[in-house]
Amino acid sequence: MKIIVIGATHAGTFATQQILTEHPDYNVTVYERNDNLSFLSCGIALWVGNNVSDPNKMFYSSPDALAQLGATMRMEHNVTAIDPDAKTIAATNLVTGEQVTDHYDKLVFTPGSAPVIPPIPGIQSERVFLCKNWTDAKKLHDNAQSINSVVVIGAGYIGAELAEQYALSGKKVTLVDAFDRVLAKNFDRDITDRIEALYTKHGTVLALGQKVTSFTTAADQITVITDQAAYTADIAVLAVGFRPRTELLQNQVDMLANGAVITDAYMQSSRPEIFAAGDSAAVHYNPTGQDDYIPLATNAVRQGILIGKNIAAPTERYLGTQASSAVALFDMTLAASGLTAAGAAARGITVDSVTIEQNYRPEFMLTTTPVTASLTWDPTTHQVLGGAFYSAHDVSMSANMISMAIQTKMTIETLSMVDTFFQPNFDQPINWVNAVAMAALEKAKQAEPAI
Ligand SMILES: Cc1cc2nc3c(=O)[nH]c(=O)nc-3n(C[C@H](O)[C@H](O)[C@H](O)COP(=O)(O)OP(=O)(O)OC[C@H]3O[C@@H](n4cnc5c(N)ncnc54)[C@H](O)[C@@H]3O)c2cc1C
Repeated sequence: MKIIVIGATHAGTFATQQILTEHPDYNVTVYERNDNLSFLSCGIALWVGNNVSDPNKMFYSSPDALAQLGATMRMEHNVTAIDPDAKTIAATNLVTGEQVTDHYDKLVFTPGSAPVIPPIPGIQSERVFLCKNWTDAKKLHDNAQSINSVVVIGAGYIGAELAEQYALSGKKVTLVDAFDRVLAKNFDRDITDRIEALYTKHGTVLALGQKVTSFTTAADQITVITDQAAYTADIAVLAVGFRPRTELLQNQVDMLANGAVITDAYMQSSRPEIFAAGDSAAVHYNPTGQDDYIPLATNAVRQGILIGKNIAAPTERYLGTQASSAVALFDMTLAASGLTAAGAAARGITVDSVTIEQNYRPEFMLTTTPVTASLTWDPTTHQVLGGAFYSAHDVSMSANMISMAIQTKMTIETLSMVDTFFQPNFDQPINWVNAVAMAALEKAKQAEPAI
């Protein structure tokens, strides 16, 4: 069996490992345009803030490690065409310029995503930086040592983390977003209001609800012009989202409107010999039951493993995702899984939601601190659809509890009473996850029509 893998960061690396673990006799050739693989871009912001022990540890695999498993590694090879009828690919060796063609029985399509670069006048400036891969990471880390000011464009979790690390290392930071809140897609206002106050406290200028209209580059500075103001800094970093890099299969397999490859539960595209995973593929989003585009390493890793398990025959089904995520900003933990109220509204889904605050452990302890917990649920079925947490205490694992609740279609009734431990070092007699579900239940009862 001849397998070709296109792209090896997370989805391609995990797929290759799993295929060769399950089928050491398979002939697997990996094409990767970079000279490295498995780079954890989630460490970029931390490295920019000099909070990484050793940047080389931001890789968990290598071309040699995959070669030792038996893969033929074609690093610094850019795949330029796929012919799904002939089952061939064409690639260019980026070092020698040599053109290569190759044949597959099955294709693992994992070329991931590309940063969105909107066609804004002046954006092609040497002072506008991207934040995606190892090359970007080195540039950002190098110039972080000398710059004094930065405009970060995009207040999703990548822009939010970068802005925080720049602020903590003493730079003058402006954070711009077209949404009127930071992390608007990840958290509702009751949590984002608090985090915005922390940015302001740390001197970050929040330019929210503003659209960038142009960039003007001078000798040693750049001005980011929005529909409301102009912000000048040493550099600008663009973090406004990602698009699936799927042009090579355009009109060849079924895709979402944004170009993400749609797969079945076994990661097979509409051409069953072509498998897709990671940022180039759609995910099954359990809170809505729909295909969606949610580019996260968590999805890339699981989908990559599933390709390995299903490459010979459909065997193990994809469970879908809740898009669980967490971020640490200014020593606060923010964690979420599933739908926020705003996210539900944007998708036209009716939910109810509640937010509570309680100290994470009893007041008789020498220290304690509040946890803010939110829950969203389906008002008809009472199924849990999302949850979010905010605290100076590490409440990140609570998002994983919510993830399991959504995955198993748990109701607020069950979540309110599900067994969780109590021990005063760690939590209250009623853990905050049970407590927010109890509050949800109370609200749901009040909403019921009186008989
Ligand atoms: C700054 C940052 C922070 C993040 N933090 C988190 C986090 O904390 N948690 C989380 O879950 N996710 C996080 N993510 C998202 C996560 O990094 C992505 O979801 C993940 O990288 C997707 O992996 P992938 O292998 O599908 O695609 P990619 O990472 O996009 O990799 C695709 C690979 O394919 C190669 N390739 C593309 N086209 C070709 C071609 N034509 N020929 C040959 N090779 C090609 C590329 O060079 C690349 O190596 C973060 C992303 C960024 C940018």
